[in-house]
Amino acid sequence: MIKVSGLSKIYGEHIAVDDISFEVKEGHIYGFLGPNGAGKSTTMNIITGYVSPTTGTVEVNGYVMGKDTLKAKKSIGYLPEIPPLYPDMTVKEYLTFVAKIKGVAKADREEEIERVMVATDIKDMAKRLIKHLSKGYKQRVGIAQAILGNPKVVILDEPTVGLDPEQIIEVRTLIKSLKGDHTVILSSHILSEISATCDDVLVIANGRMVACDTTENLLKNHKSVKNIRLNVKGDQDKIEEVLKSIEVLDEVKFIENKGEGCVFEVSCEASVDAREDISFALSDARLLILELTEETSSLEDIYLELVKEADEAYAAEMKAIAEGADLDEVFDDNESEDEEKEESTDEKESDADSKED
Ligand code: ADP
Ligand code: MG
Repeated sequence: MIKVSGLSKIYGEHIAVDDISFEVKEGHIYGFLGPNGAGKSTTMNIITGYVSPTTGTVEVNGYVMGKDTLKAKKSIGYLPEIPPLYPDMTVKEYLTFVAKIKGVAKADREEEIERVMVATDIKDMAKRLIKHLSKGYKQRVGIAQAILGNPKVVILDEPTVGLDPEQIIEVRTLIKSLKGDHTVILSSHILSEISATCDDVLVIANGRMVACDTTENLLKNHKSVKNIRLNVKGDQDKIEEVLKSIEVLDEVKFIENKGEGCVFEVSCEASVDAREDISFALSDARLLILELTEETSSLEDIYLELVKEADEAYAAEMKAIAEGADLDEVFDDNESEDEEKEESTDEKESDADSKED
């Protein structure tokens, strides 16, 4: 449905998007997750054809952005970070205006506007001036304009930002209802926002894609650590020695003396079940486990870890540059001359399109 290959966007000396590639399948809801400044909006602006990439290509519904730009754009409904609303129009006037721009046939306009107003639950506000709407309703009007014309792909940039908890739930329900008929990509800097609505998550940090998977697989496959807390009866040094001899354990830390035992915290890879090894080793040494609790990483831990790793890699590269390393080597030379030529044509077409919109 959407194919993004080798996308980069460089502003001056700053790399906002750094060689991102992914594919999006029909009918799924994808979450674009990353801290502020990660490059989510820039990537979305490129996918929707509002910003041209420095390198890379975007294909939407078989159409290449920058070549069949108008057709590609027609397949996408977009709610940008700042919804393109006209405050002095009523909701109905605005949606009529959008329907005209999107080329909805005159005979179908009324029905289509009715459909999106029902879908986003804004019928009661049809005659209200947009400037008099609450933030939540404005956001719904923004989503209504995005789904007007029934585009195959709906892209929503931080659709719930600034909404109150009740409105967030309503907008989430609305987004979920788009699934199946539409392919949806939404962005957020909040993990719970993504895990509540999306099938797949694309984690982006410092302009780079650091993970692209289902939330389920992220939890299952990510090599994160599992912490195990133990309370063991016996001599502290002896317990420590036994625990340190267990191969699957990465770290062994004494915490405190508690009641009749010593509390230790040990860790291993999340995919490993170390309970058997621990209990056999301790019982062989005639040490009694009083308590054992396991704590696997949550999706939040994994997300934070991914972002931390990306930050560290980024900091290391910046340091290398500062120390005079070869720029091409550091950035895997993704700016070939051919691509630069392509970019300049993209720029022209994209600019022309932006004016039409
Ligand atoms: P996000 O949406 O994930 O918060 P953005 O895509 O808005 O991130 O921004 C990514 C990076 O690119 C940021 O460091 C931002 O300051 C920079 N950036 C975005 N747009 C521009 C622009 N037009 N000119 C220069 N830098 C920009
Ligand atoms: Mg943004």
